[in-house]
Amino acid sequence: MSVLMKGADVANAMKEVLIKKVECLKEKGVHPCLTIVRVGERPDDLAYERGAKKRMETIGIECRILELPQEIEQEDFEEEFRKVNDDPCVHGILLFLPLPKHLDEEPIKAMIHPEKDMDCMCPVNMAKVFAGDESGYAPCTAEAVVEMLDYYGIDPKGKNVTVVGRSMVVGKPLAMMLLKKNATITVCHTRTVNLAEVCRRAEILVAAAGKAKMITSDMVSEGTVIADVGINVDEDGNMCGDVDFETVESKASYISPVPRGVGSITTSVLAKHVVRAAEAVAERK
Ligand code: NAP
Repeated sequence: MSVLMKGADVANAMKEVLIKKVECLKEKGVHPCLTIVRVGERPDDLAYERGAKKRMETIGIECRILELPQEIEQEDFEEEFRKVNDDPCVHGILLFLPLPKHLDEEPIKAMIHPEKDMDCMCPVNMAKVFAGDESGYAPCTAEAVVEMLDYYGIDPKGKNVTVVGRSMVVGKPLAMMLLKKNATITVCHTRTVNLAEVCRRAEILVAAAGKAKMITSDMVSEGTVIADVGINVDEDGNMCGDVDFETVESKASYISPVPRGVGSITTSVLAKHVVRAAEAVAERK
């Protein structure tokens, strides 16, 4: 029997700690505040925004939304973004990416103050992740996997960890974060030869490819810890992960479901980042 790694349990444990920290900050006169910047009305963004706003509110963090029109010009967007970036009452910013095609993301990524960059959008924070410097902010989803392993007492130290996926949002930064925790890392991608064999060598397997149910039972060894980051829709229109849960579950020692797995932790990591950013401001006061 495998242990089901439930995102809600991890998120609840994080919530308790964060609520206390927010109370402490408020006693010092610092009211943690996140601003979400959204251009247009993409359904995925709106869904994440609702979840994030609710999470911030239960923890006591103010959550503002800056909603900008889909057709906004670069100059106007930069001006609006600069206002939030320079607002001393805003401790953290989350900008939904990708921006519409006519907007150039690069100047914005370079413009955000690294200490307000809650989801590792700017090069400074990404460089810190790669340097093993934990003073910056890692991508929330990658960190959610680390939080999940930590909550379930799974120490990556010395373990063979395979990460399937090498995006800058999940796979690569997560590989670096687990390397920092002294795991031995293999990163797989579409050109990996004999993926099944490479996955079978894993003691911890992280699936972050975005391919519905691609990790099948023959790719997993008995006792493997499996974290599923994928969010896909299966042939029946239901949400599913990258792991074929039904067939793989019995082989795993620990496994995260989709939905209600890693995805349920990302907004808690976001809240944790905002609290850290506010604490840094309180220290400087
Ligand atoms: P992405 O940018 O599309 O990257 C996918 C990566 O997986 C690429 O590196 C790709 O390899 C690799 N890959 C794709 N198919 C593969 C295959 N058949 N075999 C081996 N490798 C394969 O996706 P992403 O943004 O990292 O997201 C990955 C998944 O996580 C998606 O399902 C996404 O929805 C989900 N996600 C969830 C959250 C959340 O929980 N809140 C947040 C972000 C993402 P190449 O580099 O060779 O193309």
